[in-house]
Amino acid sequence: MFQLKSSQNLIAYFSMEIGIDPQILTYSGGLGILAGDTLRSFADLSVPAVGITLISEYGYLNQHISSQNQQDDSFERWQIERYLDSLAQEVIIRADNSDIYLKLWRYTVTGLSGHQVPIIFLDANHPQNKPEHRKLTQRLYPSNPSFRILQEIILGIGGVKALSVLGFQPSVYHLNEGHPAFLTLELLKQAKLRNEPDPIKYVRNHCVFTTHTPVESGHDKFEAEFVKTKLDEFDLLSEVPNAIDQEDQLNMTLLALAMSERINGVAKKHAEVSRMMFPNFMINSVTNGVHHGFWTTPSFHMLYTEYLPGWNEDPFSLRGALKIPRELIKEAHNENKHRLFEHIYKTQNVSYDPSVFTIGYARRITKYKRPDLIFYDLNRLIQIAQKYPIQLVFAGKAHHEDTVGKSLINEILNLIPKIKPQIRLVFLPNYDINQAKLIIPGVDIWLNTPKRPLEASGTSGMKASLNGVPNLSVLDGWWLEGAIEGITGWSVGPYPHDHEKISDLDCIDSDDSEDLYRKLEQIILPMYYERNDEYNSVRRYGISLIGSHFNSHRMVQEYILKSYLT
Ligand SMILES: *Cc1c(COP(=O)(O)O)cnc(C)c1O
Repeated sequence: MFQLKSSQNLIAYFSMEIGIDPQILTYSGGLGILAGDTLRSFADLSVPAVGITLISEYGYLNQHISSQNQQDDSFERWQIERYLDSLAQEVIIRADNSDIYLKLWRYTVTGLSGHQVPIIFLDANHPQNKPEHRKLTQRLYPSNPSFRILQEIILGIGGVKALSVLGFQPSVYHLNEGHPAFLTLELLKQAKLRNEPDPIKYVRNHCVFTTHTPVESGHDKFEAEFVKTKLDEFDLLSEVPNAIDQEDQLNMTLLALAMSERINGVAKKHAEVSRMMFPNFMINSVTNGVHHGFWTTPSFHMLYTEYLPGWNEDPFSLRGALKIPRELIKEAHNENKHRLFEHIYKTQNVSYDPSVFTIGYARRITKYKRPDLIFYDLNRLIQIAQKYPIQLVFAGKAHHEDTVGKSLINEILNLIPKIKPQIRLVFLPNYDINQAKLIIPGVDIWLNTPKRPLEASGTSGMKASLNGVPNLSVLDGWWLEGAIEGITGWSVGPYPHDHEKISDLDCIDSDDSEDLYRKLEQIILPMYYERNDEYNSVRRYGISLIGSHFNSHRMVQEYILKSYLT
């Protein structure tokens, strides 16, 4: 489907969210950031590609913290006209028994050597549309199933049509998660019109699918009867084996699996878990990576440029970080720590002490990620802090409708006064790309304590290592591949055994938190306070062993070899 050095090649990268610029609010978290990093690497590596996503006029959500310590959400329109080019072409799709008009916008990612990767944004706020349809692309991940399915129809069907009116002829369609899977039906329809001998096979040959989560609610399902009322191409679904399951539900992941020849998970462990969830499919893995240029702070940028010339074009050369003097790594980190503490002082009016060991935690706040694990035994945590001072920086949004996630935020905020005499804790509101660039490199350790095996990959820990911040994480997702105990960081909890089931509850909060406390008290904190040089070695090994491998340049090259080339 994709040939090296042929002018016919183009990868169309479909994603419900893309985080390409801090001001372009068309992302919510890890999935969108990954899409952005992928497109940045496509551009740097001169890979012919185009990205397709929705305009998400009002973004995901703006998080405010109320005086009652609750997450309050607001939705504000971002400045689309300022950041995107308005295109003259438009698209009409047939859905919800209507014609839905889509306006198109474009952003261009320019790589290091000038190669350009356009991103097309689909916008249903068109004067020809019914008022309810004009609202379809306002918010990312609405809970209303009608909005949700119509968004997915717009992304999949509208996306294929948009590429066609803009003159793109992709040879590969990459489905980043199941949301864009309706694109396979549009391709199927076209293949049948052209009398392709085996239309299903034709579509499968051109589609690559990446699945992103073992969490059940992360796989969109819609009642077949309901789909029939929304999707004009409904009849085509009968040609796709098992897309509609025994409960008469359309499962977007099963549709994507059935229609894609190449299927990947986002880490080796995740592929193994996905094969258990979907035993009838060949699921491989391409472990995620982050864009090194985008996620490296100015202080480390300067250091790498001095010691590892060419690292920006070739992130694999970061392995040479071992020749950078440890004191310089410490200095570059101190600069990041100061930047973060300045921000904390300005926004929270709390003084953080740069000599104190600082633990960072930020990501989407939701139950299975256990943001509260470190608070499992408060007395124990306070005891540790009396011996070795610690301070904590937390951030993260809960989904608008995730009441459990929101109550976790409330509980963490309520802890602030309780532990105040011994431990400083702040919760920085409205976690986004800019905050991630400030928080992750500014702390001394990056904590991640999800319930295994539900963390498909995770990427924020890679951003930490890239900036000399060691990880302290549960052995799941990418960290199973990145962790070398005491060298690149530390693990929390046991090493997983092979083929453990998702339902196995061997991941117990009390055991995992106990291990976390023990690691901090006996290993990490003594090293930081008493043998700081050794701690700086861990920082340096992280850059060398993790930064050089867990980057999106390596990831994109693997995708080309394993999935795009036939
Ligand atoms: C990297 C990033 C994420 C993903 O974090 P994980 O820890 O991998 O879940 C989410 N949100 C933002 C803003 C990020 O930069």
